[in-house]
Amino acid sequence: MLVVSELSKSYPTAGEPLSVLRGVNLELSPGQSAAIVGPSGSGKTTLLQILGTLDEPDSGSVQINGQDPFALDARERAAYRNQTIGFIFQDHHLLPQLSVTENVLIPALANGKPTGDDTTRAAELIDAVGLSHRATHLPRELSGGERERVAIARALLMQPFVVLADEPTGNLDSKTAKTITELLLRLQAEQNTVLVTVTHSLSLADDMNERFELVDGALVRRERFGITA
Ligand code: ADP
Ligand code: MG
Repeated sequence: MLVVSELSKSYPTAGEPLSVLRGVNLELSPGQSAAIVGPSGSGKTTLLQILGTLDEPDSGSVQINGQDPFALDARERAAYRNQTIGFIFQDHHLLPQLSVTENVLIPALANGKPTGDDTTRAAELIDAVGLSHRATHLPRELSGGERERVAIARALLMQPFVVLADEPTGNLDSKTAKTITELLLRLQAEQNTVLVTVTHSLSLADDMNERFELVDGALVRRERFGITA
């Protein structure tokens, strides 16, 4: 389970601190997906950064299968993050000088050289995202949608418990965005991970098990938005 309880976060400013999260609660089981929507500046990325243990909350807790990642020291937490959390970003953060296969294998480098198993799994994931014929290509030789597929394969390499996606389809046309979202949801269900996706698209949000809107620093559950395309 991913259990988030009463998270709060503010950023220091010249004047009053900027209070961004004020009591975020969330519970998701393996295989569940949640969409988070909200206007720009509402704190979506801040929340994902904390769920991803890249940033610490001011108060409240995150528990992943009973473990509090913020109880770990920075070094332990980095190793924990690498094993437990997969990230997918809008601008995908692929390394331009590395091939598709090498990019997918990046999370395995934390343990030294990729093992045979890592390489096998990378090839399987590249196949699953439909890019076997592009395995040796560089990111600049790929379309935006193909790059996003590489980012999905990379996020799943270490069999993470939680996958966090920050507007993963924000730069794609709506048809490609739909295809990529379906792919992400299919793989997430197959691998039984928890998926939390920030999206600006209400129709894509409807494809997730649960929908939340970030309002005044808290998550408010929403029914289906019922918007097509
Ligand atoms: P969203 O992803 O929903 O657009 P963010 O989480 O990126 O929102 O930002 C929420 C608010 O916090 C914004 O007003 C932003 O300017 C502010 N903010 C984000 N990161 C920082 C930071 N490191 N320092 C100060 N303010 C920040
Ligand atoms: Mg953001």
